[in-house]
Amino acid sequence: MKISGKCHCGEISYEAELDPNGLAICHCTDCQTLSGSAYRTIARTVVDGFKLLKGEPKIYVKIGDSGARRQQTFCGDCGSPVYATADEDGPRVYNIRVGTIDQRSELKPLRQVWFRSAQNWTQDLSDLDKIEKS
Ligand SMILES: [Zn+2]
Ligand SMILES: [Zn+2]
Repeated sequence: MKISGKCHCGEISYEAELDPNGLAICHCTDCQTLSGSAYRTIARTVVDGFKLLKGEPKIYVKIGDSGARRQQTFCGDCGSPVYATADEDGPRVYNIRVGTIDQRSELKPLRQVWFRSAQNWTQDLSDLDKIEKS
């Protein structure tokens, strides 16, 4: 699926080709901290399926428990996380942050990963009070 996206302030925009099997929620503790939220929703691209149209994201390199280096990118102006990818040259897959995708209403996650660190309340929001606008 072809998608387009942008950060909140619009300094960064992109287009991408998604892997239809690559939609997931990540409950890892790094995603909780880096997203500032309870979990992160990710859309994986096909190999080299990401094209920056405008702007230059800032890069923070995260080193995982395995020693793997991952680029975490975000807009230096508004702070929106944009994507993560391997910190190396060559063909790469990009994990786009679903909240920046224009077509996000059409995307539904297929799986939850790092489930062992999931916050318990995330599994059922149906009994919370529902207010149309805050
Ligand atoms: Zn921005
Ligand atoms: Zn994660």
